[in-house]
Amino acid sequence: MVVMPVVDQEKCNGCELCINVCPCRALVLVKNVITVIETKDCGWCIQCEVICPSGAITCPYEIVIEETH
Ligand code: SF4
Ligand code: SF4
Repeated sequence: MVVMPVVDQEKCNGCELCINVCPCRALVLVKNVITVIETKDCGWCIQCEVICPSGAITCPYEIVIEETH
């Protein structure tokens, strides 16, 4: 399974800024809201999260804390 950025479709206003910034074409506009297509090409560049003016996209990284002894 490919882990992709998550879109809150309630918040998306269809401005298409994320589509223009995404280098892997994972984001498409369907009925005026963004839908994320699973692709291995998503490099987690987080540009979609950064550019979204309404905070509709989040890239939920899993934070792993490594203990050093
Ligand atoms: S993290 Fe980058 S490559 Fe992945 S969907 Fe967002 S803009 Fe596209
Ligand atoms: S940048 Fe945000 S508000 Fe604009 S189309 Fe993408 S997800 Fe929707």
